[in-house]
Amino acid sequence: MSSTQKFLLAILPKSWAQGMETESREWMLQCPCGYAKSVWDWGGIRWKAAGNPKKYLRCSQCGEMTWHLCAKGQQQQQG
Ligand SMILES: [Zn+2]
Repeated sequence: MSSTQKFLLAILPKSWAQGMETESREWMLQCPCGYAKSVWDWGGIRWKAAGNPKKYLRCSQCGEMTWHLCAKGQQQQQG
């Protein structure tokens, strides 16, 4: 856990902190190689946010610096 995450978990009311962590875990940063890791696992926070920004990160799997697409993961296609 990053210091930013620890700080926010410490200062926020518990219900907010849980929501923040849950939502940060739902947002996935995906490398073009297919590897995806949650924003939370990157040590980041993404909370009450929309859109699909890109982040320039070093991929844990392929080791390349690539643009990772930020998208809310584990979404079931319905209908
Ligand atoms: Zn990769």
